[in-house]
Amino acid sequence: MGQAIHHSENRGTRIEYAGHSFLHIKHLESLNIEDVKNHSAVIIETRDLDYVRMIVSRIRGNIAPDIYLKPIFLQSRNSINDLVLENLVDGRISNLDKVASLVELVEENLNRVQDLTFANSISFEAQMITKMITLMYTKDQKSLLPIPYIYSSINFAYPLLSVNFSETDEHAVLNILDIAESEGLFRSEYYDRIYLCNQCSSSHLSYREVCPKCSSSNTKSDDIIHHFPCGYVGPMQDFKNEIDDKLDCPKCNKRLRHIGVDYDKPSVIHECKNCSHTFQDFFVNAKCLSCGSDRSVEQLKSKIIKSYFLTKKGESAAIKGFVTTTKDIDEIFGTIKFDTFKTMLKYEIERLKQTEGSSNICAIYIRNSSLVYSKLGSTLQKGLLKDLISVIRSNIRSSDVISFVSSSTIILSMNEIPNKISNKIMGNMVRLLEELIASTFKKLDVQFEYKVVALDHHKPYEEHITELTIDFI
Ligand SMILES: [Zn+2]
Ligand SMILES: [Zn+2]
Ligand SMILES: [Zn+2]
Repeated sequence: MGQAIHHSENRGTRIEYAGHSFLHIKHLESLNIEDVKNHSAVIIETRDLDYVRMIVSRIRGNIAPDIYLKPIFLQSRNSINDLVLENLVDGRISNLDKVASLVELVEENLNRVQDLTFANSISFEAQMITKMITLMYTKDQKSLLPIPYIYSSINFAYPLLSVNFSETDEHAVLNILDIAESEGLFRSEYYDRIYLCNQCSSSHLSYREVCPKCSSSNTKSDDIIHHFPCGYVGPMQDFKNEIDDKLDCPKCNKRLRHIGVDYDKPSVIHECKNCSHTFQDFFVNAKCLSCGSDRSVEQLKSKIIKSYFLTKKGESAAIKGFVTTTKDIDEIFGTIKFDTFKTMLKYEIERLKQTEGSSNICAIYIRNSSLVYSKLGSTLQKGLLKDLISVIRSNIRSSDVISFVSSSTIILSMNEIPNKISNKIMGNMVRLLEELIASTFKKLDVQFEYKVVALDHHKPYEEHITELTIDFI
């Protein structure tokens, strides 16, 4: 500890303190985003929030973990009145003399980042989920709550996720959160409902009551009056006179006295000033302020806004690395869903009770999958998995099925084959896979393992799967 040392550079100033380097970005100073990697944390001088939002979005919206996970502090004498910005940063100091107070937070962040394993995700959705859960892990944040926000095109921001999207694409966060929840990484609670434009998915809508005939909002309304003594019913306009503000019945010419006694206002009538149509009930239209579309509210897309809470599975996915969503795996040709695999296994075990057959389930496990996936981009990863599946497919019978348990574990059935032979086929198959990898990807060392479990009709299918994958997951 001791004196903070300041080094001025072209862009930003480096402040060294207690073995840490802080990148200090002054108001309106340009930022070389790659430079963020060389520092333990970033401090942004906060004079104008638009500028701060821009810098913070560039850091948090980056795809490199050593940029988007970097602690960010605002330097401001006053508190920041923006919940979204507050959620995106890690704290505030009133002036640079207070740098010492940040050291503990920065070190805690560094420790947490060290727990994480990074793997290139196989799809955009998986990549966004990874960013979101790793940020939550390093910030020790367990919940992802929607914040009403005028800068959001869907009116609510989930800061750690929304920061990755431009205004026109922001509705995609809802889809990604749905996927993350269905993967079991989050549980959710209902918060509110929003409506999105059916053309551009913006929620910046202006609602108006309009004429059902011509959709004009230029209308006037009048009370309907029912005169009890003579039974006449008509708009209030017909009862008005030019001399005073009293009302006279146009049919029987009597002066109206007390509402509820000699007359009543049973309803309202509307008249369109554009097409002169008169009507009792308005239509309600929503005009989209983003694309200009103006349609009936019935055509809007209704979406539920939820609060999300990280599950144990979500936390462990942050630590181990989250590579694929179930949907990504489902898209690999020649495989079936894991749930379908389980159902088929159940039936096979039932069948074995009747016959004296010998069937097996087998697993192939990529021991160093995180390392492998982090070396390959998402297109190559999908290519690798496709290649593996086609090799496996050509070595088993067409009646056997293949599925993914996770992005590192492939499971398959080998029915009506002695266990010894299954083991032999698997051994040969893994050798073929290793050859394929060696010829396709130079210098990529993929470590495979395999296991075969003979089906025993005295045991439930879950037990077989556990026995098969226990060493692999
Ligand atoms: Zn009209
Ligand atoms: Zn009357
Ligand atoms: Zn629109």
